[in-house]
Amino acid sequence: MAKLHLITYGCQMNEYDSERVAGLLRERQYELTDDAGAADLILVNTCAIREKAEEKVFSKLGELKRLKATRPEMVIGVMGCMAQLQQATIFRRAPHVDLVFGSPAIARVGDLVERARREGRPVLETGEAPLVKITAKPPTADRLKAFVTVMEGCEKHCTFCVVPRTRGRERSHPPAAIVAEIEGLVAGGCREVTLLGQTVNAYGRDLIPPTDLAELFARVNDVAGLQRIRFTTSNPYNLTPRLIRAMREVPKVCEWFHLPLQSGSDAVLERMNRGYTRAHYLDLIAALRDAEPAMAFSTDIIVGFPGETEADFAATVEMIERVGYDNVFVFRYSRRPGTPAATMPEQVADDVKADRNRRLLQVVERVTGAQSARLAGRTMEVLVDGVSRRNPGELAGRTRCNRVVNFDGQGQVVVGDVVRVRVTEALPHSLRGALATPEEAVCWSK
Ligand code: SAM
Repeated sequence: MAKLHLITYGCQMNEYDSERVAGLLRERQYELTDDAGAADLILVNTCAIREKAEEKVFSKLGELKRLKATRPEMVIGVMGCMAQLQQATIFRRAPHVDLVFGSPAIARVGDLVERARREGRPVLETGEAPLVKITAKPPTADRLKAFVTVMEGCEKHCTFCVVPRTRGRERSHPPAAIVAEIEGLVAGGCREVTLLGQTVNAYGRDLIPPTDLAELFARVNDVAGLQRIRFTTSNPYNLTPRLIRAMREVPKVCEWFHLPLQSGSDAVLERMNRGYTRAHYLDLIAALRDAEPAMAFSTDIIVGFPGETEADFAATVEMIERVGYDNVFVFRYSRRPGTPAATMPEQVADDVKADRNRRLLQVVERVTGAQSARLAGRTMEVLVDGVSRRNPGELAGRTRCNRVVNFDGQGQVVVGDVVRVRVTEALPHSLRGALATPEEAVCWSK
């Protein structure tokens, strides 16, 4: 078999796409290798969300140039969001690249690679294509937990974001195709799925007849053998009372909600074109906590958006403290080509962004630490997914609220089990626990 080396940057959707590409190329007799030097084909799956992500790719392509000089027959391809955004610029900056293709062309990866090999000149494929559900996966993929893309694209047009340009308009996969994919994954040992979409809570409104994420939860919940359903990323604008109700009523949906806030300032939210205010966001959090008191929240924040003042930043800090997140991803605003925010006046200086980033991370550490401390002494359901990174003699798993727990399985527990663990210690980034005795087996989380 020929050798494929796959390098993936970016979000879970890219991880999912890379798995599909590896699965499709396996059908063309390519097997995965960790060794770039031994590869016949190298594919770099890229992210364009921030400038730094793009620079990482160009620096990786620089490394690969040296490799290709020693093995000229090797094919190098660039796929994903940056391929879609930068197109022929990639050939200009990295002339040793043979193939550039966007996400819509993934289903044709085998043909594109053959074309690049046969023609010996750069192949560019970034046009639209029909939405296809690809379920191919390499044998090395994680069997226990899987990502499942349920929709592509985004139509939100947040003024900072390139995603509508890189992933196109919103297109949902039909529920039957998603359920069939999940049934196949469960037959192979999968116990937890994460349903993926750029605005996953807008799922289904483009289908005929239209449907929604609440309805999809119910269908996926019926898949026998599946234990847990997660989903990401949601947009507060599309969060409906129906979905909030479904979070309470559909048993396999976990008590973890990733709800990007981006900023705690109404003025900034408006310039970002997010479509909600801080008051509305807080109402949503209250409704979700009312539906499910054990709900854990995580969020994304951008610091240094054009025009962000110290008072705007203070409003973000205040929101983080008020919501009490379990996890917060903080990003410095990055100017993206073709987005409205890139040409807004009052761009914030890099040193100010860096300073706000640092200060916000201190707040996040304190707030998430306090959330963690509240879990000490609780008995929680844990899906065991491997051995502990700190201590190979121990097991590791995740709670339904998405916390990592390390514990001694006492020789009674194996990877894939769902067990009850009493949290004995809350560390800043993980929990320590002990297997609960049957008398203790009262789960705080549903
Ligand atoms: N579609 C999701 C939404 O709008 O909530 C987010 C997807 S994006 C892959 C993940 C995060 O990257 C966003 O929530 C945002 O915080 C951040 N991000 C997007 N564009 C950015 C930019 N130009 N600069 C800095 N961070 C950015």
